[in-house]
Amino acid sequence: MSRIAEKLCIVREQINSAAVNNHRNPEEITLLAVSKTRPSEDLRAAYAEGQRDFGENYLQESLDKIAELNDLEICWHFIGPLQSNKTRAVAENFDWMHTVDRLKIAKRLSEQRPATLPPLNICLQVNISEEASKSGCTPADLPELAAAVAQLPGIQLRGLMAIPKATDNPDEQHQAFQAMKKLQQQLQPLHPQLDTLSMGMSGDMDAAIAEGSTMVRIGTAIFGARSPKTTDSK
Ligand SMILES: *Cc1c(COP(=O)(O)O)cnc(C)c1O
Repeated sequence: MSRIAEKLCIVREQINSAAVNNHRNPEEITLLAVSKTRPSEDLRAAYAEGQRDFGENYLQESLDKIAELNDLEICWHFIGPLQSNKTRAVAENFDWMHTVDRLKIAKRLSEQRPATLPPLNICLQVNISEEASKSGCTPADLPELAAAVAQLPGIQLRGLMAIPKATDNPDEQHQAFQAMKKLQQQLQPLHPQLDTLSMGMSGDMDAAIAEGSTMVRIGTAIFGARSPKTTDSK
């Protein structure tokens, strides 16, 4: 077995046991393989093991890989920060966009989504730990943003996404994810299609699954440590 195959296997087991330990059906949880900075061959190796959902952060790099891998049936997720003048490439090339945190971005994605494609699935990013430096809308602004986004054609509001403050303390991890679950429950009566909680990374996936995550975004645990990447210049 290749290194990636082995690690993928371990991550799947970890998701399964986190689900079962928390009385959840493992099938409710999608593994999103975060492939930023990885070469296309690594994605192919994971694909050969049945992995279908891949998350990318850097636009130009992701467009190169989407072109190189267009013989595969990959579901592409954009999970990085996005400037509003770069929305078109996401609207035209991705299946999911996880980091919408203001109406301007949603409106542009809505206008730019080609009519020939199904609606772009949208997660609203929430700054759940309310860190000054982080992107994401505040929990207080979320209901209004969700209501406005839900009206737009060409995109479909599917869920909420968060990158909580990094901490090794399981109690703090649980608190942040629990707060996300509460926000989802508050919105669901108005937005029944909001079935996705994109939360949990290599370091906090157990807590995220315990609190209701439906999509864990895992990079390092599948592909190994990344070499540092400083900017997305393109
Ligand atoms: C890089 C990244 C991940 C994956 O992080 P790992 O620690 O490598 O699992 C998940 N979500 C987002 C938004 C990321 O940028």
